[in-house]
Amino acid sequence: MAAVLYIVIPCYNEEAVLPITAPMFLEKLRALIAAGKISEESRVLFVNDGSRDRTWDIILELADSDPHYLGISQSRNRGHQNAVLAGLMEARDRCDITISIDCDGQDDINAMDQMVDAYLDGCEVVYGVRSSRETDTFFKRFTAQGFYKFLASMGAEVVYNHADYRLISARVLQEFANFREVNLFLRGLVPLVGFKSTTVSYSRAERLAGESHYPLKKMIALAVDGITSLSVKPLRLITGFGVVVAMLSFVGVLWALIAALCGRTVAGWASMTCIVCFVSGVQLICLGIIGEYIGKIYMETKQRPRYIISERSWERQEPRKKQES
Ligand code: UDP
Ligand code: MG
Repeated sequence: MAAVLYIVIPCYNEEAVLPITAPMFLEKLRALIAAGKISEESRVLFVNDGSRDRTWDIILELADSDPHYLGISQSRNRGHQNAVLAGLMEARDRCDITISIDCDGQDDINAMDQMVDAYLDGCEVVYGVRSSRETDTFFKRFTAQGFYKFLASMGAEVVYNHADYRLISARVLQEFANFREVNLFLRGLVPLVGFKSTTVSYSRAERLAGESHYPLKKMIALAVDGITSLSVKPLRLITGFGVVVAMLSFVGVLWALIAALCGRTVAGWASMTCIVCFVSGVQLICLGIIGEYIGKIYMETKQRPRYIISERSWERQEPRKKQES
């Protein structure tokens, strides 16, 4: 029997682009069904991430227009990673494979054919990798590349130029459900689950409409989150740095002693001030890094739910009637 595919699409304030891209996803799904690669039971699953615009209304209209469209809505905005997780977890018991993709049309949907082929060849995870970033602005390209390089240098292993466009089989998702962390960085976590994987490259286009939700500030936050939730390398770097500073201090102590013995201890205000400023700056940075990890531990110990689904397109609630008095 052909595999059931769920295309999982996070949407946050996407009223401008959703009416354009939704039919494209459906068309792709239909083509895959027609080619006999996937089952007729396959679906396009939108995850509304607490949008403030008409996104959820559009999703409900789509669900009414065609049974292949499904939608779930998070109770509030929780961010891209949590929205994708909510969709994947919702899909895992209903399907054999999931493909997560952004709803803005930037990721080439035609790569799905190769992804499904790779699954049929025995791969459980297929990463979509951007082959070119020509359509991105220079700034976006530069910061995005810096992002991957920085992650790698800090010991967080991620697939280069892979964002959140990937195929994951339900089998892998069942195992992935055991990763209970609330600090979610999917592209770093999925490789940790293992299983046979491969990559499929595609060229990244421009957003078809609407605006990016990932400005530089959010990208830096994502990089810090990614690193501190995947690797303790920064802590080791601090230790290494501490050792170097301690050795330099030793030289400094010798210098001070010799200077004192030679009776030349009057001058030295500038060197003293420099050393105090430098060392206290370094200490504050180190404290900040350690604090980042403590913050992570703090959030993990709370074990708060990672997503809360408030509505599903197939279980619609009747509007509450006013009590008659
Ligand atoms: N997104 C989301 N929740 C958020 C921010 C973004 O679900 O809080 C979705 C958004 O609708 C899109 C995807 O995540 O489908 C990627 O966002 P975007 O295209 O803005 O990021 P970029 O491609 O510019 O990095
Ligand atoms: Mg985008």
